[in-house]
Amino acid sequence: MSPPISSLQAAWLTEIGVDPQWLGLLGAEAPSAPRPALGGQQTPPVERPPAPPADAGASLEALDEAILACQACGLHAGRTRAVPGAGRTQSPEYLIVGEMPGAADDAAGRPFEGPAGSLLRAMLAGARVPDADSAYLTNVLKCRPTGGRMAQVAEVAACLPHLRRQIELLRPRHILVLGRLAARALLETRAALEDLRGHEHAYTLSDGSTIPLWVTHHPASLLVRPVYKAQAWMDLLALARAARDPARRA
Ligand code: URA
Repeated sequence: MSPPISSLQAAWLTEIGVDPQWLGLLGAEAPSAPRPALGGQQTPPVERPPAPPADAGASLEALDEAILACQACGLHAGRTRAVPGAGRTQSPEYLIVGEMPGAADDAAGRPFEGPAGSLLRAMLAGARVPDADSAYLTNVLKCRPTGGRMAQVAEVAACLPHLRRQIELLRPRHILVLGRLAARALLETRAALEDLRGHEHAYTLSDGSTIPLWVTHHPASLLVRPVYKAQAWMDLLALARAARDPARRA
């Protein structure tokens, strides 16, 4: 866990263009606003994005339309296409949740088109995750931040209702979450990835029913830190075991 930061450190971060609230997702306490920024100016308040229209998610198709037209945060200005998700929409075995579209995904309008997606598919096949082709793939953020920069807290907050609505509509049998940002957003926690992976969680739907949820390393991080592949492998084997368990399929 990152240490809490002082108001002076927060001011410095603001000054160099880093949103101190982002540290909330990284594990540190975001300092309470308002704080004077360096030079005596006030830090501007974080703007709350407008909520999506109430009827935006009556069906998956309607939700996709709403996502494609979404302007709830500034990311719409830099996207080529919003990327709602792709894959099996009827009773999918898995919902696989990544962080945000990459450059290839932004161009194609489909998630996991690039190298991270190739590694993900190879790992699912290698771990013999049953019916891995019966998955719906999506992301926490539906639009790519310009230049592939990190997501901001307000952008995650604006986009998360889309993902939650997708889960309600898709009702997958299992959820596999890739990486820290997605795990923290969906599980509403600041826990470290090491504490979130390696065991099963439960995602609670609006009717109180639950979907088993696993967290593992993001394939993009495995491309640069292959040392974590063994852990990701263990996570996928646990998922495969649970998916094969006849008691759970009753
Ligand atoms: N492509 C995606 O769609 N999601 C990621 O998290 C990474 C690449």
